[in-house]
Amino acid sequence: MSELAHAGVAELGRLLRQKKVSAIELAKLLLDRVEQHRELNAFLDVRPEVTLAQAKAADERRARGEDGALLGVPIAHKDIFVTRDWASTASSKILQGYMSPFDATVVDNLARAGMVCLGKLNCDEFAMGSSNENSAYGNVLNPWDQGAVPGGSSGGSSATVAARLAPVATATDTGGSIREPAAFTGITGTKPTYGRPSRWGMIAFASSLDTAGLMTQTAEDCALVFNEMLGFDPKDSTSLETPREDFTRHLADPVKGLKIGVPKEFFGEGLQPDVERAVRAALAEYEKLGAQLVDISLPNAELGIPVYYVVAPAEASSNLARFDGVRYGHRAARYDDLIDMMKKSRSEGFGPEPKRRILIGTYVLSHGYYDAYFIKAMQVRRLIADDIQRAFTQCDVIAGPVTTSVAFGFGEKTTDPVAMYLADLYTVPGSLAGVPSMSLPCGFGERGRPVGLQLMANHLQEAKMLGVAHQYQQATDWHRRVPEGF
Ligand code: GLN
Repeated sequence: MSELAHAGVAELGRLLRQKKVSAIELAKLLLDRVEQHRELNAFLDVRPEVTLAQAKAADERRARGEDGALLGVPIAHKDIFVTRDWASTASSKILQGYMSPFDATVVDNLARAGMVCLGKLNCDEFAMGSSNENSAYGNVLNPWDQGAVPGGSSGGSSATVAARLAPVATATDTGGSIREPAAFTGITGTKPTYGRPSRWGMIAFASSLDTAGLMTQTAEDCALVFNEMLGFDPKDSTSLETPREDFTRHLADPVKGLKIGVPKEFFGEGLQPDVERAVRAALAEYEKLGAQLVDISLPNAELGIPVYYVVAPAEASSNLARFDGVRYGHRAARYDDLIDMMKKSRSEGFGPEPKRRILIGTYVLSHGYYDAYFIKAMQVRRLIADDIQRAFTQCDVIAGPVTTSVAFGFGEKTTDPVAMYLADLYTVPGSLAGVPSMSLPCGFGERGRPVGLQLMANHLQEAKMLGVAHQYQQATDWHRRVPEGF
């Protein structure tokens, strides 16, 4: 049975189509695994009766002749996406037990395709963090090494796919929250172009950056799920009106002649030798496959973290204003008047990281500081995006490390927010530019902890990027490695 649990999306789609397994059997198998591996603390809400009803419906659709590639394939959703049938908390106490009256568009699109939801996944509170240590519901463990963080903010999603509790999980990336946890857990994590996935029903953190994506075993699996997940949504004002496309169409393209840009700024001070070794070996593998490495420069990339930590908290301070004790979630039990009620509800409901961001964000947006910080940050954001555009005149994709080190230990960075923020040094530039970007497993570093290779492509070129990743995965087997005991 564990062979079935280890199968990815493409493989499960084939087995379902050939009637070698039913959606109900699969859902039961994976619900059992979720239960067996409670110690990971990856799931926040599991409701087997809802999952099994979805699985039964998928089997009925297949019996009636439907044949979708995802029909009956299990998935789990990061608790940033609102769902009608499971609580939606953003891993915050302020939303404990909150039941949404509707499903996020991403959730809805995948449900329409017949995917069966196993439940909701732990993450950093409001997706703020790099280690999942900011969840109000406790840490998620890294299946490779239970003393290591699973990355964040999508730590529940990364641990779930790495431990093979689900073949795919949704995730969100604002500054690195898909790529960093994917790198730390040895799986494939992909952030599409900003505006491609709908943000409708995604609990907002920083609206100009928030991008839904996926954790999968392989690039091919990601392409299959993107086919149903991405697309124009009139309910999201920043949704891109691009025609539907087949994200699998470039998987078979050889990389011979492909120009891979290697930014020198991603190999500077701070990059740990174990990570550098694995990433350089991956680049050498691409050369072996016929690709050409091109030296490029992203001169403003190092300003990414300071820019991000002005822009993201500014937007967060505005987005989190809606949690006021009136409309959603937690309200203080005792208060004197309206203002006191809001103060107490917010003080009790938010954890320390959202509070820190609300303070920073309010500060940089306040009169007198707006021009000095926020406007300046927006200007530098443009410079970073321009660097990336310039780079794409010299190369087809950009490649480099995802993180400076392999997964760190619990508590190692919690007392130093700046050290924690630096975990996203190499991922933030792609977020600020809104380009598609991904992490794919490329080896192991210190203490046997996984290393990720980052790929970036230009806007709307995720199909090409997935093809480049797929070719590497045809030539290597890092993505097939499963942590011991799973
Ligand atoms: N680690 C970054 C932060 O804390 C990015 C988080 C994210 O991408 N959601 O904001």
